[in-house]
Amino acid sequence: MWIKNRYFTRIEGRDWLFFGTDEETQHQVTLFHVASIPIQRHTKIDSKANIYEPSDEPYFELRVQRKMMAKWHGRQQLRYIFNRQQLRCPYCNGLIDLKSGWHFHHITQRIHGGKDTVDNLVMLHPSVPLNGFSFTKNAAVSS
Ligand SMILES: [Zn+2]
Repeated sequence: MWIKNRYFTRIEGRDWLFFGTDEETQHQVTLFHVASIPIQRHTKIDSKANIYEPSDEPYFELRVQRKMMAKWHGRQQLRYIFNRQQLRCPYCNGLIDLKSGWHFHHITQRIHGGKDTVDNLVMLHPSVPLNGFSFTKNAAVSS
């Protein structure tokens, strides 16, 4: 299965690590360990979460993150976003990897009509302050 070899690698005997290659150092970057993903048969919408409530935005960002990590097609989308950002956090330009951690952020928030699509998602370090900070589509794409 050529696609498996192309998108995943085996590092230190652990299977199915998600990776990208840092252009500068040529180091392979591990994004997550597949075996660590909690098994989820489906992702339920928290009945208390409201798409029109700005403070619920992180809930929906986490939901799409989990969804993508759990499914093969989603992981391909995730890898696309990761490589589009050149493996870096657009806020600080630092490398994103397994150690730093990451989370999704909607470029256009759901309350403003933003969707869970690759074009509307950016990966950030968990420490990036989201309040009052907004990303343009260009910033997300050009790193
Ligand atoms: Zn950062």
